[in-house]
Amino acid sequence: MLPLIPYPTTMNLSGGTCRFNPDTLVFQEQSTLPHEGYHLSITPTQTVLAFADDAGRFYGEQTLQQLTSPDGTVPLGEIEDAPRFSWRGFMIDSSRHIQTVDEIKAFIAAAARYKLNVFHWHLCDDQGWRFESERYPRLNEIGAFRNGWGFGNPNPERYGGLFTKAQIRDIIAFCAARHITVVPEIDMPGHSAAVLKSYPHLSCIGDAADVPTGAGVFSSVLCAGKEETFEFCCGILEEVMDLFPGKYIHIGGDEVPKDNWDACPLCQKRIADEGLKDSEDLQGYFTARICAFLREHGKTPIGWNEVLNAGICPQDMVATKWWDRENRCDAFANSGGKIIMEETAHVYLDYDYHRTPLRQTYSYDLQPDTLTAAGKQNVLGIEAPIWTEWVETFSRMGYMCFPRLLAVAELGWCGKAPTDYPAFRQRAEAQRAALDALGVTMAPAEDWDPEDT
Ligand SMILES: [Zn+2]
Repeated sequence: MLPLIPYPTTMNLSGGTCRFNPDTLVFQEQSTLPHEGYHLSITPTQTVLAFADDAGRFYGEQTLQQLTSPDGTVPLGEIEDAPRFSWRGFMIDSSRHIQTVDEIKAFIAAAARYKLNVFHWHLCDDQGWRFESERYPRLNEIGAFRNGWGFGNPNPERYGGLFTKAQIRDIIAFCAARHITVVPEIDMPGHSAAVLKSYPHLSCIGDAADVPTGAGVFSSVLCAGKEETFEFCCGILEEVMDLFPGKYIHIGGDEVPKDNWDACPLCQKRIADEGLKDSEDLQGYFTARICAFLREHGKTPIGWNEVLNAGICPQDMVATKWWDRENRCDAFANSGGKIIMEETAHVYLDYDYHRTPLRQTYSYDLQPDTLTAAGKQNVLGIEAPIWTEWVETFSRMGYMCFPRLLAVAELGWCGKAPTDYPAFRQRAEAQRAALDALGVTMAPAEDWDPEDT
């Protein structure tokens, strides 16, 4: 078994090897190959890499790199390969703890090696705003900082910072060179404590509580009764669209406590004026308005699965299935909506290995039978987030994400697990040196499946 991740779709190998000579590598455009697909043919005299597009060429090169042994030899034969899913994503939370540009790039380089193609960037949350804004400078000065380094840490040291527009452009270009699309997330109307500390007038009750220094779901939500809230959200999204060239923008929508809306005269007036049922419906109204704005600008909105709660989610919105107690994503996909599989039990990389062993990530079924045949076709793919409430350092991030992100990459590329689990573990362990070279530290193998030993 070759130590490849993700494992190629079809391999016909002769059993022999030869020394790889880069001078004999021939690139061939072949329009009949699928998008992102490639064909590698290795003989003792030459290596031919055929592809239909630049992404296919890039993925063929990644495979060739993984195929090359430390002694410089490659196996002889043919590999024909293409991904099962178009969405093979990872999410980084830069709000709870921020990373450096170099750390983000190291992580992206590692993800690209395994043919992941979406970087979902969680750029703001209650505990810190991380996107430099020209129109709303108080976000940079106030929302980007909190009094406390490390959650639950009594040390009152000021913590924070943000990514400047130049840094973000640099990261977008770094991703583009590796065929990774960046999907920015501006979470609204919940998870907005950092926004409300900066601009208290956007809250229902003039809420200006400090930017929180601990984990949790906070009642600091944007007031959906005020027009200023929509002006702010659209203003920020315009800045986001100026910067991020991709088609998708994530607008969050998760964990929105309704207490303030229930008590707010302006929110209640909006509910009455719009003929809405309750505050849950008001979130549906909020989401629909933001989606319409993004659609006017040619963008496709994405939201966490709570955007489906009101039952009035626009059909062209993409839902991220993370914790879907009522299984609304299934009904949404079965009726034509697109979904991304990102469930806590399998791919939440901030959960420790006792809670989510590698085996459990690798067994994730992206097209369960709760979906109809048509619904299964509406699964765009898989994504795994690393939430950073308890992930303060980049080395901790590497430990939590690898090798579980390797399982995510393989499921996204292959659909179902292509080899048995012990073989996957061996292939994952074989990645350690390459990840080390990229500056990403994988968890030791004895930690991957704690209950198995
Ligand atoms: Zn309100």
